[in-house]
Amino acid sequence: MDLGIKGKRALVCASSKGLGLACAWSLAREGADVVMAARTAATLDAAADAIRKDTGATIVTVAADVTTEAGRQALLAACPEPDILVTNAGGPKPGDFREWSREDWIAALDANMLTPIALIRATVDGMIARRFGRIVNITSAAVKMPIDILGLSNGARAGLTGFVAGLARQTVRHNVTINNLLPGPFLTDRLRQTAERAARDGGKTVDDVLAARLATVPAGRYGDPAEFGDACAFLCGARAGFMTGQNLVLDGGIYPGTL
Ligand code: NAP
Repeated sequence: MDLGIKGKRALVCASSKGLGLACAWSLAREGADVVMAARTAATLDAAADAIRKDTGATIVTVAADVTTEAGRQALLAACPEPDILVTNAGGPKPGDFREWSREDWIAALDANMLTPIALIRATVDGMIARRFGRIVNITSAAVKMPIDILGLSNGARAGLTGFVAGLARQTVRHNVTINNLLPGPFLTDRLRQTAERAARDGGKTVDDVLAARLATVPAGRYGDPAEFGDACAFLCGARAGFMTGQNLVLDGGIYPGTL
């Protein structure tokens, strides 16, 4: 299927590794010009080189912290009029809510709610004027199935989800869609780090923790980030213009509900 996004400009945040990288890669394979961002320049440039070699796409990198105003300005300077925006940032730390200060909450809200909203605010009116826009927010399956130790994530991402639900119905008549992708367990650095912490806290090995988590996945395996990237590219495609305000769970069947 031709997704109809050849030559479209895509801004993909937090994309030197993991799920963001997979989204950038899939969009590049579909012919989009991609601006990639992450804080660590060396990792980001190596990732961009790998995508260029594989796809021949035009890739620009911006080493910046997307959760800061200066970082977002740097991204928008490199890609002032994106047709496609994929918002993403690192997830908040796990823990017990009794230990979290107001600053911890503000940091989580900044990274996982207010940063995507700021980027949407900066780009959505241009998309509306050009009558094409695809916005995908990388959130978490925890939006539908909260994880007890990830209260900062559960709370901040729920806020973003509520905001998007309202806005997505206003923009769709202009061919601008806004959807959220909700990852379950994908084998990325983030998942490995979470497993290492759980192993330390529980006196187990990392392999034991990963095996126990795997046992909860009906698919019988962890998600491959490339599968996530391709789902993102589909949502960003010209053919996905009738789909907006949705929360698409990619979790190998973990979420047990009918709807
Ligand atoms: P990952 O493999 O650790 O990759 C994170 C990427 O984001 C890296 O490229 C990192 O590069 C970049 N990044 C982090 N903070 C940034 C910032 N402030 N500004 C710019 N770039 C930043 O993580 P992942 O597994 O892909 O997770 C992506 C998101 O999905 C996270 O919010 C995570 O909580 C969520 N999620 C993941 C899973 C999963 O199973 N993997 C499940 C549920 C939710 P630098 O460090 O160099 O900036």
